[in-house]
Amino acid sequence: MVIAIDGPAGAGKSTVAKYIAKKLGFVYLDTGAMYRAIGLKVYEDGCGVENTERVKELLDDSVIDIKYVDGTQTVWLDGKDVSKEIRLNHISKMASDVSALPFVREKLVSMQRKMSENGDYILDGRDIGTVVFPGAELKFFLTASVEERATRRYKELIEKGQQADFDTVKKEIEQRDYNDSHRKTSPLKKADDAIELDTTGLDIDEVCARIEKEVNRVLGK
Ligand code: C5P
Repeated sequence: MVIAIDGPAGAGKSTVAKYIAKKLGFVYLDTGAMYRAIGLKVYEDGCGVENTERVKELLDDSVIDIKYVDGTQTVWLDGKDVSKEIRLNHISKMASDVSALPFVREKLVSMQRKMSENGDYILDGRDIGTVVFPGAELKFFLTASVEERATRRYKELIEKGQQADFDTVKKEIEQRDYNDSHRKTSPLKKADDAIELDTTGLDIDEVCARIEKEVNRVLGK
């Protein structure tokens, strides 16, 4: 069984996906981490996303691995654990930029489908319900006001010891959402058959409880 969770940055997708995965014994696949790994590679090379020939070379040379350590996903790029680096703020923007390139999406989508072939998976991203698994048994589209999403992301960065300024975080989220929703290939959008949940004003336990209820309904529990 596949559960798809899509939505803009900071809507609570990964927290909910991790919770449901643990509760129901599903494997959680954070597809954003894969775009982040390519973003990191392009950032480190310094070629810039406009240099699509070079980005193509980098993509072809990249070995992305997702490994699970004590149930937690770790992301490996060319044999190195980059789980922490890919979360740095400037890599979010790079991830969004590389994710607009059709050849990047093609490779990562195919990897995501292969990785989730056997067993029960919960995937979060921007195009899971629309492109990666249009036939997913259950699809959610999580949203929240930009103010709330920026507040969550800001707190997260501060907790991780990263420097952050609220207004900058908010602007970056708005910009990333705009890019993700307006790109030509697989833009962020709600699948027609996805259940939409606005998480503004809800705490994470409430969001998880609502999603769990829907999952149990579909599973006939
Ligand atoms: O989910 P996360 O914020 O880690 O994703 C980083 C970026 O990767 C997003 O802003 C988006 O541009 C891209 N992404 C995507 N499709 C996905 C997952 C992430 O385009 N399925």
